[in-house]
Amino acid sequence: MHIPFLDLRSQNLQYKEEFEKSFESFLDSGWYILGEQVRSFENELAAYIGVKYAIGVGNGLDALTLIFRAYIEMGRLNKGDEVIVPANTYIATVLSITENGLVPVFVEPDINTYNLNPKTVEESITPKTKAVLNVHLYGLVSRIEDLQATCKKHKLLLIEDNAQAIGASHKGTKTGAMGDAAGFSFYPGKNLGALGDGGAVTTNDKQLADVIRTIANYGSEQKYYNKYKGVNSRLDELQAGFLSIKLKKLDEENLSRQRIAERYCSEIKNKHIILPSYEHTQANVWHLFVIRCEHREQLIEYLNHKGIGTMCHYPVPPHKQEAYCEYNKYELPITEKIHLEILSIPMYPLLDEEQVSYIIESINQFEL
Ligand SMILES: *Cc1c(COP(=O)(O)O)cnc(C)c1O
Repeated sequence: MHIPFLDLRSQNLQYKEEFEKSFESFLDSGWYILGEQVRSFENELAAYIGVKYAIGVGNGLDALTLIFRAYIEMGRLNKGDEVIVPANTYIATVLSITENGLVPVFVEPDINTYNLNPKTVEESITPKTKAVLNVHLYGLVSRIEDLQATCKKHKLLLIEDNAQAIGASHKGTKTGAMGDAAGFSFYPGKNLGALGDGGAVTTNDKQLADVIRTIANYGSEQKYYNKYKGVNSRLDELQAGFLSIKLKKLDEENLSRQRIAERYCSEIKNKHIILPSYEHTQANVWHLFVIRCEHREQLIEYLNHKGIGTMCHYPVPPHKQEAYCEYNKYELPITEKIHLEILSIPMYPLLDEEQVSYIIESINQFEL
């Protein structure tokens, strides 16, 4: 059997006819940037997440970067302020902080959930700390109630990097509606993936929404009059049309991911493998299914031999990247251990029962 790590082509071909219809009406409209499609998608997204405002932007990195930039313009943050961030995240999370002249404070995650540990967050707060950038990593909801309480107590902004967790919820609230603002990515491989780049910000704060919308469009509210030194980061009409089609199927697709995760969690049994852990009150959306193994290289080779694709999310943590040489000497043992042992196995809605069984059996038969 051959099971690729991801099969985006088949995933998107399911929507071929609807995409084609959407493309035709897009072509026919003659309107390419910031039109009806973007406006409708923003409204649908805001309603889906349960917030007042959604702003389409160019990609997930821009979504996060624009949130911080807008808070700086609003005087809520100042250059040099500290932002607490999990040390084990995709580099985009950290770039959104440093791009704005803010200072990332890397904190160790919980070794079992890979998400922020509220106790460690509390211990990392200094008088300069002004925000927490929480990541719902791999599509699993982090310990949000404790983080909300900590942020409230210390008057910190709580920002969510929701790039991997669209559709996840906890006690009736969706991720993306749990803090002051959230950034989303519609990169093709994400749970809600466009056919190109895309991103969005969600918030209940009208002023923040207005400022982000303005900065993302050259800092201009009125064409050719510029209030800020803005950027050009807009969601394409074409992508917004595709995303509206896929948003309607997102819950169904996430449910398939949950069913696969349930099987992996209950049926994978191998003393060399550590499964992800989570709270049962969470509705997680399993962007990735990440296991841990001290003998990762052997496991990759073994699964590859069995025809099963795997990937590593991520092989090197941000503080060990060449781009962040100023932090290379930091020692974050939990984060570094996680990066050495994690392995992502296939997780996408189109995996069928037989493929899932084959993956489970193969992993269960792995021995040294
Ligand atoms: C994908 C991702 C981003 C960035 O999104 P892009 O659309 O690729 O810019 C940010 N944070 C996390 C956690 C991501 O997984």
